[in-house]
Amino acid sequence: MVTQRMNNTSGFQAIVENSKDGFLIVDKKSMIRFVNPAASIFLNKKPDALLDTPFPHPIKRDDAIEMNLIRNNGEPGTGEIQVVDIFWENAEAYLITIRDITERVIYDRLKDEFVSNVSHELRTPLTSMRESISQVYDGILGDVNENQQKYLSICIKNIDRLRKIVNELLDISKMEAGKIQLQKCKDDLVEIVRSSSEVFMPVLKKRELDFEISVPEKVFHVFVDRDRIVQVMNNLLGNATKFTLKGKIQVAMTKENGSYSCSVSDTGEGISKEELPLIFDKFKEFEKSTRPGETGSGLGLAISKKIVELHRGTIKADSETGKGSIFTFALPQYSSSLVVQDFIDERLKESNENFMLYHVHINDLDSIIPLVKKSEIQEAGRKIESRLKNLGKQVCPVFVEPDEIVAFAEDYPENKTQFKTKLFRIIKEIYFDVADAEIDFSYGKVMYPSDGQISENLWEKCSEQKISETRERMEKYILVVDDIVELTEQVQILLEHFGYQHVDVANSGQGVFDYIQNQNRVPDLLILDMKMPGMSGYEVIGRLKESYKTKDMPVLIMSGYEVEMGRLFDYISHRAILTINKPVQPELLRKMVYFLI
Ligand code: ADP
Repeated sequence: MVTQRMNNTSGFQAIVENSKDGFLIVDKKSMIRFVNPAASIFLNKKPDALLDTPFPHPIKRDDAIEMNLIRNNGEPGTGEIQVVDIFWENAEAYLITIRDITERVIYDRLKDEFVSNVSHELRTPLTSMRESISQVYDGILGDVNENQQKYLSICIKNIDRLRKIVNELLDISKMEAGKIQLQKCKDDLVEIVRSSSEVFMPVLKKRELDFEISVPEKVFHVFVDRDRIVQVMNNLLGNATKFTLKGKIQVAMTKENGSYSCSVSDTGEGISKEELPLIFDKFKEFEKSTRPGETGSGLGLAISKKIVELHRGTIKADSETGKGSIFTFALPQYSSSLVVQDFIDERLKESNENFMLYHVHINDLDSIIPLVKKSEIQEAGRKIESRLKNLGKQVCPVFVEPDEIVAFAEDYPENKTQFKTKLFRIIKEIYFDVADAEIDFSYGKVMYPSDGQISENLWEKCSEQKISETRERMEKYILVVDDIVELTEQVQILLEHFGYQHVDVANSGQGVFDYIQNQNRVPDLLILDMKMPGMSGYEVIGRLKESYKTKDMPVLIMSGYEVEMGRLFDYISHRAILTINKPVQPELLRKMVYFLI
């Protein structure tokens, strides 16, 4: 047989052109630069319609991700996207491979459904068998002699074992199908570890094994489904108990850069070098020479690993035959990053509609805290949460801690800045109440899908940005309007003294519209006198309301008289108006401007 050496580009081209797998080259801006015929079929567009357009799926380097595709036979199916880094025309780019995995997905689904259905069907009869046998064993149905009791107790033990296996099978099949719904919340890992370890005390005492639980006095906050972490602890402690004949079992906890870890060690028979790398695989049970307890399903550690990974944590095992084993799992510290990424992942599973996220960081909290009681700060967080919830179902608080707030909004099609204004107003008002001061905060924001398509990228972008609200506010344009020249000057000087860099004045109602036309800019805030010759403040507001460009402009009314709010009702429903009496008090002016822009 002759093997032809293929060192020309046309040879490679032929492979790529005829490959059943889809190949695309996508540049770092996600734009498609090359596409082969298979990829064009999968994406259901002609190659020309794909070139120079964004790749329509998330680009994730580490894990293969699934997508919907059109198969060669024109039917819908499932594809798997793999991404690797390459150089293309002297620049960094991605080589994206799409493989049709429809058959595998169907087969996997059938297998999962089978396992899940069978386990489900087994559960009910097992429970009723357990119940009936227990009643006989307990003598409820008449006297039972010692021998009969012995046999019944073997039955019960084995039913319990079967039930455990069935539950584990159900668990793993749900986890593998991505169907497990975790109920995560902020919790203390120290407390979870302590209480789940203490449950083992009586068993270990009976087995005459030493048991040491050394956990810190502090709290280790994590973002977890408590029951699931207890399940991991039960598995590790159960195994340690099962495979240790004499000596000691120890539970210890440590904190290391950004995560908390818990280790369960024993002085049991250990795990051999050959077995150790396979220990977390499914259905792996290894023959033990001195197994004192009953056998299991070989699923416990596989489930524990899945659980830990679903919490973005890690688990590992070290062991030496004859000396003992140590299993350590580490979970990331509770943080906005965990909560928000989970939230985004859930949202992306449900829908592909646009959304935006704001991440606000309160900068000076430490200087605020000594001034007020800590409980008030906690209370402020709760108030922010409830006010955000009241903004309607399009908006929701995702993460609220005293110094950090992450809020989500379905994209407001009509006005994107509306959400930001409302969010900032809430934060300013509530912290002003608590600290009696203007708080300094910075923020980041992202829009899905334009800023990223997966939770990691979106969160990274959102949390990296640190736009200072104070600096941004100081650069806003303020127009002060009064027919009395000295008064406009006085307010202008005050505002400049507060740090506002762009304060302009006008001395008539008409002046507002001249300013907008001449400067070709709508001011960010209008400070307006109501009683002016010619066009009054009321008329100015009425005209502003009519134009799309100016209808949302915030206004601070400065008046020596009672303001007729009834006349401004329409406008107020659009945009809050605050009023300040003349003569203007500097501190009040400062506060109102702070709230309005
Ligand atoms: P099982 O439910 O059968 O115990 P696991 O997945 O929890 O399944 O454990 C798989 C295998 O790993 C066990 O059968 C045992 O061989 C080994 N193993 C787990 N923990 C220990 C330990 N602490 N000491 C020795 N061997 C262990």
